[in-house]
Amino acid sequence: MKFNPVIEHLKVYEPGKPIELVVREFGIDPKDIVKLASNENPHGCSRKAADAVRNAAHLMYRYPDDTMTALKTGLCDRFGIGSENLIVGAGSDQIIEFACHAKLYGGAKILQSEITFAMYQIYAAQCGAGVIKAPGIAHDLDAMYQLYKEHEPEIIFICAPNNPTGDCLNRVDIENFIERIDHDTLVIVDGAYQEYAAFKNPDKALDPARLIEKFPHVLYLGTFSKAYGLGGMRVGYGIGSVEIVRSLYKLRPPFNVTTLSLIAAEAALEDQAFVETSLADCFEQMARYREFATAHGIETIESYTNFITYLLDGVSDSTHIADALLRQGIIVRDLKGYGLNAIRITIGKADENSRFFDAMQKLIINSGNR
Ligand SMILES: *Cc1c(COP(=O)(O)O)cnc(C)c1O
Repeated sequence: MKFNPVIEHLKVYEPGKPIELVVREFGIDPKDIVKLASNENPHGCSRKAADAVRNAAHLMYRYPDDTMTALKTGLCDRFGIGSENLIVGAGSDQIIEFACHAKLYGGAKILQSEITFAMYQIYAAQCGAGVIKAPGIAHDLDAMYQLYKEHEPEIIFICAPNNPTGDCLNRVDIENFIERIDHDTLVIVDGAYQEYAAFKNPDKALDPARLIEKFPHVLYLGTFSKAYGLGGMRVGYGIGSVEIVRSLYKLRPPFNVTTLSLIAAEAALEDQAFVETSLADCFEQMARYREFATAHGIETIESYTNFITYLLDGVSDSTHIADALLRQGIIVRDLKGYGLNAIRITIGKADENSRFFDAMQKLIINSGNR
């Protein structure tokens, strides 16, 4: 069968391994599996969100409220924006998809940092667009600006904080960069981990209302999948100028967010106490990861997210470590595919992290390097 030539060279995105797969492949009891691979909230979600979904379960026969008024009102209040500046998607992934379709075509280009969220280039490639990458392990805004001048991309992606490295640009540097970009170029600022960054360091905190007020060519992305613990519900959002949001709306399929997902997100948004507790615990546990790394000669990247990246050069091989951990039911992310000899570990609950440290310590000793 002949397919659109554009999709022939596409790679399929490899998400973190689901627990079910590890159960099947290695025969490990689900309760013994520790999943630290997909940056989910280890504390689950707000109990209020779970209760709201349970109480609304009987509504699943109805199509969702396609105006999404309740959730949109909550988000508008939270961010101080108008509803005409907001679009809600099935994960912020879907907003990235809309934005790519809105701006890209065969021969168009996106610009991104070399090591960043994999979906940017996948959606771009689906549109037949080329991908320009600024080299380096972190966003190099000077290099990005040079490449912008040289290639005139249709979209520039900035991931702050960045996945899969965990580091984060300062707000000032992001704003100074965007200021120099022509208004015909869409600048997508992905704030999937902004709750974590803002909690840890106010210099990293982005204010979407301020961003879109200053810059008509910015699309800010947020999600309920990380700090809010709703990865399974698929709810994310984009915030931008009326012009951008209106264009994205043309690409939105009706009822793109389910009834129960909308209800979960509304309730989750109202329970900021749950988010605060999750953030505090995340960084408390992250300190243990830093201590472990220091004690074992592992280099880390300062993280403003709910995960930490262990750079394993001189210690071991990331694929070997990730596979060996998997055999023990501990799922982490190997970053070899990004060209890094590194693993990305989602910060889990205290006991889950202890399991990781025990297993990792034995592996490092056995690999004989230390
Ligand atoms: C998780 C993530 C997203 C989107 O997640 P959704 O579940 O689709 O909302 C977007 N960007 C980055 C960098 C992420 O890590």
